[in-house]
Amino acid sequence: MIKAIKGTKDILPDSIGKWKYVENIISSVFKYYNYSEIRTPIFEETLLFARGIGEATDIVGKEMYTFEDRSKTSVTLKPEMTASVVRAFIEHSLGKKHSLNKLYYISPMFRQERPQAGRLREFHQFGAEALGSSSPLLDVEMISMAYDILSGLGLKDLTIKINSLGTPESRKNYTQKLREYLKDKKHLLSGESKERIDKNILRIFDSKIDNDIEVMKDAPLLLDFLDNESKDNFEHVKSLLTSSNIPFEIDASLLRGLDYYTKTTFEIISGKVGSQDALCGGGRYDLLVEQFGGEPTPGTGFAAGIERILIACEKENSFVVPESSINLYIVCLEKMLISKAYELAQSIRRNNICVEMDYIGRSVKAQMREANKLNSEFVLFFGGEEYSEGKVQLKNMKNGTQELVKIENLVNKISGD
Ligand code: AMP
Repeated sequence: MIKAIKGTKDILPDSIGKWKYVENIISSVFKYYNYSEIRTPIFEETLLFARGIGEATDIVGKEMYTFEDRSKTSVTLKPEMTASVVRAFIEHSLGKKHSLNKLYYISPMFRQERPQAGRLREFHQFGAEALGSSSPLLDVEMISMAYDILSGLGLKDLTIKINSLGTPESRKNYTQKLREYLKDKKHLLSGESKERIDKNILRIFDSKIDNDIEVMKDAPLLLDFLDNESKDNFEHVKSLLTSSNIPFEIDASLLRGLDYYTKTTFEIISGKVGSQDALCGGGRYDLLVEQFGGEPTPGTGFAAGIERILIACEKENSFVVPESSINLYIVCLEKMLISKAYELAQSIRRNNICVEMDYIGRSVKAQMREANKLNSEFVLFFGGEEYSEGKVQLKNMKNGTQELVKIENLVNKISGD
């Protein structure tokens, strides 16, 4: 028996309602903020992610699904979307068409992580990217859209954490200070953190190992080394969040896993989902477009994981999916009329009415049971005495009334015209 690959999940019909409900809220919030949808290929040249996300990150170093295709090109299943959006932005000169591009996506992503609750190898992210403005308004817009979507799903136990990573220069000064701080403490760190001192020193803050946490507790913080521009920017973000009634906390150790961030970064955490508690993360990346060879264009964005959000929704019992239903079930009273019943179903369906009937030779009683199970608004009894006169019995399942209706009037009756 071949099974689905570890860390991947089938989304079966009984949970599709939940997914559609979430996807509807996502697209409607993005619509209110006037974001347009973008779709990019599932795989890209490996170099795009290696360069964009950063060689020293966990995603690039350990987690990418990378393989050589038959023409010996190294390709990678997308582990995140920002690099792809930026590539498309440059490739199609979107910056020339609109001075500000506000884009959103919903897409599967792939990372070869150790599967556990809330951590999959194929998962689904939605997110947004705004390219063309360095205004803190857009940083706040990202946080605000993410918060609106999560609150729209009924989630309450949410914490928004924000930080600023400053400019590359302020980060350089800071990493120097951090290096000095760690000089005589290196022996206390885990092997992985020791390696990070040279490769990507900020990542040591992400370690979950007790000794590392203890060492980093008193480390200098980047927030205290910000340049004036980043400081002003951060103050502006904070005051806009306050005036938009968005609650937040400052977390100076929030550095995010990716290399490309500058200035504002943020995460939204759920208090209900255990160790994989980040529902969403994002930040500003003012140098990424340039780094990819495009015209210098500031950008900001976020990404959120749908599976993790669904776990939080379940834990908080935060929404109920409306029950599914159909408009009409045709109960066929005589087996020899089945083709005629099918013809009728087809013609009614073409009027945007959802019709179901029996395909497996059920008894009339079993067909009635099925109509109830499907929550049908109307049941039509096809056959019987009046059928030869072109009439059928139509039962309204909501109020229980039944009437004789001419077949040609069925569509009007069912659609309530
Ligand atoms: P990141 O791109 O790593 O900042 O992740 C953004 C969001 O995507 C996270 O907050 C999670 O909700 C989700 N996410 C990231 N990695 C995974 C994964 N392996 N499985 C499920 N969700 C994930």
